[in-house]
Amino acid sequence: MMDTPVRQQNLLDLGPAAMADWFESIGERGFRAQQLLKWIYHQGELDFSRMSNLSLKLREQLQHQANLELPATLSQQTSRDGTVKWLFDVGRGNAIETVFIPEHGRGTLCVSSQVGCALNCSFCATGAQGFNRNLSTSEIIGQVWQAAKALGHERNGERKITNVVMMGMGEPLLNLDAVLPALQLMRDDLGYGLASRRVTVSTAGLIPGIDELNKQLDVALAVSLHAPVDELRNELVPLNKKYPIAELIAACNRFVQGKHKRSITFEYTLIDGVNDHPEHARKLIKLLRQVPSKLNLIPFNPFPGTTYRCSTPERIDRFQQIIMQGNIIATVRKTRGDDIDAACGQLAGDFSDRTRRRERIQMQWQASV
Ligand code: SAH
Repeated sequence: MMDTPVRQQNLLDLGPAAMADWFESIGERGFRAQQLLKWIYHQGELDFSRMSNLSLKLREQLQHQANLELPATLSQQTSRDGTVKWLFDVGRGNAIETVFIPEHGRGTLCVSSQVGCALNCSFCATGAQGFNRNLSTSEIIGQVWQAAKALGHERNGERKITNVVMMGMGEPLLNLDAVLPALQLMRDDLGYGLASRRVTVSTAGLIPGIDELNKQLDVALAVSLHAPVDELRNELVPLNKKYPIAELIAACNRFVQGKHKRSITFEYTLIDGVNDHPEHARKLIKLLRQVPSKLNLIPFNPFPGTTYRCSTPERIDRFQQIIMQGNIIATVRKTRGDDIDAACGQLAGDFSDRTRRRERIQMQWQASV
């Protein structure tokens, strides 16, 4: 008689609760999940045979019925400012990008949630690339695992990654099924043990996703606003046609008043002559007064094929001053890692030659005007 092939479960696809359920489904006690999670996320160990506190029999069973597969590293580049960018292989010629930004006293990992993006924001390189597919939980948490390993996270007790932001490629709230277990693993003590304010989901404004996230998990929320009025926001963030500003603000208020009570960070990319006029700042103040929030201004980062330019330092400064005079906290995000195309909106996940990528983006851009 032939053996029926065993369907292997990738255990990196499971959040803490699902992991305990899986162990019970193979006739093991749930606490085995805790041991395994510690091996994977605390020790960085992916070889079942080295998990010495599991019985030999269980280790063999795991080898047979489970795996721990995650995206392989294609390249790692370090910017002159210390920013690190990885390109990870997610199969079929696709790659995703992950960025580590070290700052005084903290280290932020910027993680991707999709291969490409379907939202087509006019100022974003990922959008210009189009949408390919959702990432799985193992491909999302795998980025953190790989980065932690490469950085020597928690070796000698020092934690390199203190914050995670879902601000890489893709729209995380369009892939919540895979993103939620990954967020749970970032938060859980048996995973990376990050406090809720240190794990941020960034969205272009997907209202049902904001409400669902609010119900499910305590994390911080960043909303990419980029314009104070619908007419302009429709142009920059086409998703606004479906979820206009007033409804988005109402959803933000539900989030703030939800059980986790956390204020919102609004992101606003400053594009020269497009959304950086003092009048835009004044309108923005009126909007931001409607919800407990702060503003993060992002100088536009150019990419091949775009006609947008970054606002001048004077205009950025002026914009920030006006907002602050309105008693709203406004910070300017420092551009990091631009020499290795690791800055916001520059992540295109392309590992074929750069000239071809430029041509392709240029062509797409020409086709869209
Ligand atoms: N889809 C999510 C997360 C990814 S983008 C979202 O929209 O929030 C992370 C941030 O970088 C967003 O605020 C995005 O609008 C901004 N961004 C995109 N392209 C940019 C560019 N070229 N320059 C500066 N910021 C950009």
